[in-house]
This record gives sequence, C-alpha cells and structure tokens, in this order.
Amino acid sequence: MKTDRSDILACLRNSADYVSGQQLCDRLGVSRTAVWKVINQLKEEGYRIESVPSRGYRLVESPADVYSESEIASRLHTKWAGQRLVFYESTGSTNPDAKRLAEEGAPHGTTVAADRQTAGRGRRGRSWESPAGSSVYFTIVVRPSFAPDKASMITLVMALSVAEAIHGMTGLDAGIKWPNDIVVNGKKVVGILTEMSMTPEMNEIQFLVAGVGVNVNQESAEAFPEEIRKTATSLKIESGQRFDRAELLAQILSRFENNYETFEETLTLNALKERYEARLIGKGAAVRVLDPAGEYTGISRGITGTGELIVEKETGETVLVYAGEVSVRGLYGYV
Ligand code: ATP
Repeated sequence: MKTDRSDILACLRNSADYVSGQQLCDRLGVSRTAVWKVINQLKEEGYRIESVPSRGYRLVESPADVYSESEIASRLHTKWAGQRLVFYESTGSTNPDAKRLAEEGAPHGTTVAADRQTAGRGRRGRSWESPAGSSVYFTIVVRPSFAPDKASMITLVMALSVAEAIHGMTGLDAGIKWPNDIVVNGKKVVGILTEMSMTPEMNEIQFLVAGVGVNVNQESAEAFPEEIRKTATSLKIESGQRFDRAELLAQILSRFENNYETFEETLTLNALKERYEARLIGKGAAVRVLDPAGEYTGISRGITGTGELIVEKETGETVLVYAGEVSVRGLYGYV
C-alpha cells in the first residue's frame, strides 16, 4: 500500500534538486507536521537527508540495501504491478500469502514480498532455500480473463522479465533454463513457481500467482546448503557486487508489467519469443527431458509461440514439451 512515507521517499528520490516542505505537503495532501515527522523517521533509519531552510529537503544517500515496504514502493514506476504491496520480514511462503489475499479480492498486480521464507517452495513439492537478508522473494497476483490453457505462458513471461531485469541491473548474462529457472554461468539464481486457482465450475481462471525467488547478495557458495552448492549461485557471487534488492524487485515488476501487457494483446508469446530465445540456454544443443512418462534426449530448437519447448529427437521426430511436470537438463549436468 502506498504510504506517506513511501510517497515522500519517492518524491525525494525522483528529484535531483531540493524539494520544499510545502511542495511535499501540496503534492501528497498531508500536513507540514506529517512531512516533518516522516523526514525525521527516515533520518533515524540512516537516510542522509539535507534540510536547507528556504530550499527544502534533498536525499543525499540511502542506507545500503534497506529492504522494506516503503523502500520498494518508493522505487516503483508501474501502473498495476506491485501497486498494492504487502511486505513481511518473515513468512512461510509468499505464494500462499498471495493466494489468500487473492481469495479475499486483492486486485490484479497485488504483490507480497518478504525478506525471509521459512517454507519457500519450488515445483512438485520441492523446497526453495530462503534465508534472510540476501534474497528477493515475492509473489504477484494476476487476474486474467484468458482461458486456463494459456496460464503456463505466464511462467515464461515472468522468467523473461526477471532475466531482463537482472541483465539490466547487473550486466550479467542471465540465461533462461526453460521454462522457469534463471541461470548465470551454469548455476541457478532464480526459481519461479506459478500456481492457478480456478472458478468452482473449473472452466475459468479465478487468479494466477507467480512466485519468484532470486539469490542476490549471498557472499559465497557456503551460504547455500550442501545439496545445492554445486548448482546454486547469487548475483553477488557471479559479479562481485552487491545489489539493492528493493531496486531489483521494482525493476522486475516494471518489466513484468510491460511484458504481460504485450502477451495479453495476442495471448501468445509471439512478440516476446525472440527475446526469450535469445536468453534460452541450450538452444541448438542436446538436452535431456525428464518426463515422468519416460526420459529422452534430443536437440533443443527453441520455443513455440505458446511456450512449449521444441525438441528434435534423434529419430528426427519433433516433440513439443509442455511445462508442468517436466524438467530439462543438459546432457551431462544441470544445464
Ligand atoms: P528443475 O527444472 O531444475 O528440475 P524445478 O524448476 O522443478 O527444477 P524449482 O521448483 O524451480 O525446481 O526449484 C526447486 C529446486 O531448486 C530445489 O529442488 C533445489 O534443488 C533448488 N534450490 C532450492 N533453493 C534454491 C536456491 N535458493 N537457489 C538455487 N537453487 C535452489
């Protein structure tokens, strides 16, 4: 939810020059005392705000990696994605939180973010390692009017958005391991879990939630539990730099909003396919498809306009792989 606090922070952040107390009052419709209180509170939290009589306030520096509701909200430049925002220091998992809000009628774009998850989840009942202080975990609610058979494309739309936001902010070559993992230098930095709720008649989507976990500031592989040390990594490990999590989340939401609207125009990935395939790992190379009905290998040829992976078997037969229950691997390892 937008608050005076995040609005004031946003005004200061988006202005290169001083903003007068009166301007803040007028723009936000709050009293002088309210502005003064918020400014003092921000200063106490470590924001360096210069106040010059007759000129006003100027944000000189934000404390490093403050991850809070107002910090995220003040960086958002979206119409609907994250405009209703709920932030938890700690929660079980943001997907069930978002589903609960959606059941209660939360609008399209409602986002739940957390600093830590105690029961982070992956696909097929797997878990997502979710320590405090280093990662981005969030889930966005979407209320589509399209048919349920289109829903799996949202995972790809989100994967593209996250990969592009990571690339834009860090310069890292963020690849997509179809359908839902983001990989940097052969290791996983992001997991995405999309879930759908149907109307009681089971013929329409009530809402979708797309949950994302990004490993951002973990310092070294030792930050991950033994079982995933060889396959997991963070943006910090790969780039040597720490990143502001609130800014990363804001950028992901803004890319997702744009990409989702592009997808909605045709309800296909046609307009996004080229960008998705440019990041697709293993295109043109051999992949192993771990299908519960039977494992097989083939050459990955990219994706269809509806998000299936095109795999050409050795027999020459072309298979369209549907997301859902399937995992894809490189021939000799994770990618
Ligand atoms: P795949 O396609 O690789 O089989 P998946 O898409 O089914 O995986 P997800 O649901 O995305 O898997 O993620 C769960 C898996 O990711 C876990 O089983 C674990 O191996 C790995 N994992 C868990 N936490 C993290 C983390 N923080 N960073 C990277 N990998 C993780």
